[in-house]
Amino acid sequence: MILVMKNTASQEDVNQVKKMIREKGCTEHESIGLNYHIIGVVGDTSEIDEGIFQRNDAVDKVLHVQEPYKKSNRMFHPENTEVKVGNQSIGGKKLSIIAGPCSVESEDQILSIAKSVKESGAGFLRGGAFKPRTSPYSFQGLELDGLELLKKAKAKTGLPIVSEIMSTDLIEEFVENVDVIQVGARNMQNFDLLKELGKTNKPILLKRGMSATIEELLMSAEYIMSGGNENVILCERGIRTFEKYTRNTLDLSAIPAIKKLSHLPVIVDPSHSTGLWWMVEPLTKAAVVAGADGLIIEVHNDPKNALCDGNQSVKPDRFNNLMDKLKVLAQIEGREI
Ligand code: PEP
Ligand code: MN
Repeated sequence: MILVMKNTASQEDVNQVKKMIREKGCTEHESIGLNYHIIGVVGDTSEIDEGIFQRNDAVDKVLHVQEPYKKSNRMFHPENTEVKVGNQSIGGKKLSIIAGPCSVESEDQILSIAKSVKESGAGFLRGGAFKPRTSPYSFQGLELDGLELLKKAKAKTGLPIVSEIMSTDLIEEFVENVDVIQVGARNMQNFDLLKELGKTNKPILLKRGMSATIEELLMSAEYIMSGGNENVILCERGIRTFEKYTRNTLDLSAIPAIKKLSHLPVIVDPSHSTGLWWMVEPLTKAAVVAGADGLIIEVHNDPKNALCDGNQSVKPDRFNNLMDKLKVLAQIEGREI
C-alpha cells in the first residue's frame, strides 16, 4: 500500500500516519520528492482497512500494490490446492466431473440419473434440493426430502453429493448430509452465510455471482477461508452481459486469470452459462483446454418435462458420449478423470 501525502501535510501529520502504520504491525518507507511526499507501507497489508488512511485529512491518495485477498492469493501459496472430498480430490491433475439434474424431483429420477452418470464416469452427483428460483411460483425444490433422496442415490452409487445451500439455519443439515456444499451465484455475497460456512470444514463450491468481478469472487472465498475453512472450489458459471442469445456469457478468460491470481481449484458450469443443452459440449471442451479443474453439468433423463432448467440439461446418452470425448481430451491435456 502506498500513501501519497497532501502538500499541506505537516511533520506532525506525517508522524501521526507513521504511528498508524506501526500500530498495524507494518513499517514505513518514506520518499520525499520535489512535489510529492510518499509513504510506502511495508509488511502484510491484506488485513488493513484502507479507510483509516483515506479518512485521514493529511493523506491525498491510497494506492494498492497487493491484492486485498490473502488466503486465496497464489502469492502466499504458490502450489495448486487440491480439495479433498471423501477419497477423491478436486484440483491438481484431476479433471473432476460433477453431473446430475438441476433439481431432485423424485426418487426414480435421481436414482436413474445418478446410476447413468456414474456409469459414464462422473465423479460426483449434483442435485438441487433447495432451489433459488427467480419466481416464487416456480418449483422451489423438494427441500429436506430432496436431501434424503440424494443420500439414497449416494448409497446406491457411491457418488459424493454436491447440493446448494441458501440459508445459515440449514448448515448443520448440509454438513451432515452433503459432501460439497454449493453456494450459488445469487448468494456469492451473502456474507453471513459465507462466514458461517467458514466455521465448518466442508468443501465449499462457490459460484461466481452473475455480476461479480473476479476480485469479488476471490474476496468471497476469503470470507470462507479467513474463518478457517480453506476447502474452497471456485466456479465460473457465466456472467451477465448485453448478449441475450445465451442465458449468460461464459467468461473463459476467468479460468487462466483466477489460476494466475489464486491457488484454488476452478471449475466451469457450461449449463447455466449458456442455458442451451447443445452448447454444453463445445464449452465443456473449451473449459478443459483453458485449464479448468472440472465441470458441473446438468443432466436430466427427461429434459422436456424437467421442473427446472430442462432447456440446458443434456440427456444421459449425450452425457455419456461427451464423457468419452472428455476422457480423450483429458489425456491430451495431461489430466486424469
Ligand atoms: C445451480 O447450480 O443449480 C444454480 C442455481 O446455479 P447458479 O447459482 O450458478 O445460477
Ligand atoms: Mn439449474
